[in-house]
Amino acid sequence: MTPYDDIAAPHSPLGPRPLDPGPVARRALADGFGRTVTYLRLSVTDRCDLRCVYCMAEHMTFLPKAEVLTLEELDRVASAFVSLGARKLRLTGGEPLVRKGMMDLVRSLARHLKTGALDELTLTTNGTRLAEFAPELAAAGVQRVNVSMDTLRPDLFRKLTRGGDLARVQAGIAAAQAAGLSVKINAVALADSNAREIPDLIRWAHGRGCDLTLIETMPMGEVDVDRTDEFLSLKDVRAELESFWTLEDLPLSTGGPARYVRIAETGGRLGLITPLSHNFCETCNRVRLTCTGTLHTCLGQEDATDLRAVLRAGASDAELVAAIRGGVDVKPRGHDFQIARRRPAVARHMSTTGG
Ligand code: SAM
Ligand code: SF4
Repeated sequence: MTPYDDIAAPHSPLGPRPLDPGPVARRALADGFGRTVTYLRLSVTDRCDLRCVYCMAEHMTFLPKAEVLTLEELDRVASAFVSLGARKLRLTGGEPLVRKGMMDLVRSLARHLKTGALDELTLTTNGTRLAEFAPELAAAGVQRVNVSMDTLRPDLFRKLTRGGDLARVQAGIAAAQAAGLSVKINAVALADSNAREIPDLIRWAHGRGCDLTLIETMPMGEVDVDRTDEFLSLKDVRAELESFWTLEDLPLSTGGPARYVRIAETGGRLGLITPLSHNFCETCNRVRLTCTGTLHTCLGQEDATDLRAVLRAGASDAELVAAIRGGVDVKPRGHDFQIARRRPAVARHMSTTGG
């Protein structure tokens, strides 16, 4: 069976689709610089039950339902990417677990794991509904989840998320582990908020068998606060950690902006995501699809391909594949982030693009 034969497999809970990828799907998905795209991040909703200060404005206007791709449309586009050689799918948002019918989408996409077309189906979540969904995620074939948690202090968590309950997220993490999921913790490094507790966050995560990844703030979308005040360079964090711990560089590369080290004293792995540096663009293997079906091939550029228009114009699978190829073909060489700029580098929020 070829990787795309299963597009037609009539065992998707969202219903069968005709098989018509055409010969065009038989070439790998590569951009104009020869980089092969093997990783799709799919935002399934712009909505969220939290309002993290660096991600969203306090009073967000969310998209009307008609603008957001249906579960069937999300499944169809994601499956087209799988047919083109995407080996990894990450579902994100907004908060993916607040999307109604989310588990139907997960179960449907998991058919590509069963055929071997996909290596990994995973999601990034704020963890608030993980206790409820972890067993179903594990049963569907999800093996790992990323959970965002920036602090171990309930009061600071409430402040950073504008109302979130840390205990609930931690219960979600425990439930995920109990269900057999491997959990990675994501924490945005913030100069005035959590900088001093980063070693505690690392100990907490590593003590539970979780990797922890620190993320530098990215200037995406207007969010009420000035992100330049909270920007914390991970180069400085690393230097600080090295003053009391032994950090050993790991050769692991995910084709993205993360670098990994092992901390000898905790035995765990620490990821450092420095999206403002350009040192990963030349091996970048990923693209993002917003919940409205816009394909962004670079997190920090405005380039965009409207796949929703293609879908809703009644495109055949071959036409959809051609539109995806057209979008990927013009993937920019690199991004254009500079935290020193007061204005966001791109107008869209992380919650729309999918972090
Ligand atoms: N709601 C889910 C969550 O919080 O994990 C998934 C979506 S969220 C947009 C994905 C990741 O993006 C989170 O780890 C979040 O901390 C991060 N994020 C959001 N806005 C960011 C920004 N401006 N800079 C850096 N990371 C950001
Ligand atoms: Fe919601 Fe995630 Fe953005 Fe926080 S980072 S507001 S949890 S989408």
